[in-house]
Amino acid sequence: LALLPLLAQVFAQERPQGASSERFNYQSDVARLRKIVIESLYSHRDVFLRELVSNANDAIEKWRVVSLGGGIVDHNPLNITLKLVPGENDQPGKLVITDTGIGMTPEELTKNLGTLAKSGTSEFLAKAEAEKSKSDDAAANLIGQFGLGFYSSFLVADEVYVSSLAPATKENPNPVQHVFHSASEAQEFDVYPDPRGQTLDRGTEITLILKDDAKEYLEEKKIRDLIMKHSAFSTAYPIYLWSSK
Ligand code: ADP
Ligand code: MG
Repeated sequence: LALLPLLAQVFAQERPQGASSERFNYQSDVARLRKIVIESLYSHRDVFLRELVSNANDAIEKWRVVSLGGGIVDHNPLNITLKLVPGENDQPGKLVITDTGIGMTPEELTKNLGTLAKSGTSEFLAKAEAEKSKSDDAAANLIGQFGLGFYSSFLVADEVYVSSLAPATKENPNPVQHVFHSASEAQEFDVYPDPRGQTLDRGTEITLILKDDAKEYLEEKKIRDLIMKHSAFSTAYPIYLWSSK
């Protein structure tokens, strides 16, 4: 299958040295909460997948509403694709989640993924402690309450690349695909034009560079079961699973 071009693409997302790349520090609360999420929800880390699929579903829904409302005729399909890319030659494996939703401008990447809508580290900590041994559903509730869905990526990923293209609008007639990149332990994140150029028609592609102990998320059956259990009935759009077998 067409694995090699995909791998080449994923690696090409690396931050360029150019002047247009910007580095941001997380708000202190975000950095702290991210660490706490990872530590306290570790035993429920399956929840990352439903969080990312739910964000993809929300993004497609937003695009549907915006395009219908604006009378925009759009022939691109509305769907979610999951690609499982095993690592070759000691490279880490990757899980790539792509949606054809509303996408994000570089400003939105910075704001939506780099800051928190709600803060409250101690409140989260107290609740996480209380719910630690409970179910995945309790963990997911907690993540939802604190708007931490995206950060749950770091339960399974050492590094996350989010490449996104917002639709052209009057205010933003020539959108440029940008990448948000952050490493699990990092205090900062980068936002820069995608060095691959425009690879998306519209929407968002999230590449999780999986932790060494998270290889189970490269198994087709594991992903299929999780999707069937948590996402299939709450997602309004087709979900495609692509694996190299
Ligand atoms: P929540 O979904 O509760 O708002 P998340 O942490 O899951 O919190 O996501 C934060 C924000 O990032 C979302 O509100 C949305 O604006 C943006 N976002 C996340 N994933 C996507 C995506 N796939 N497409 C577009 N925007 C997204
Ligand atoms: Mg969410």
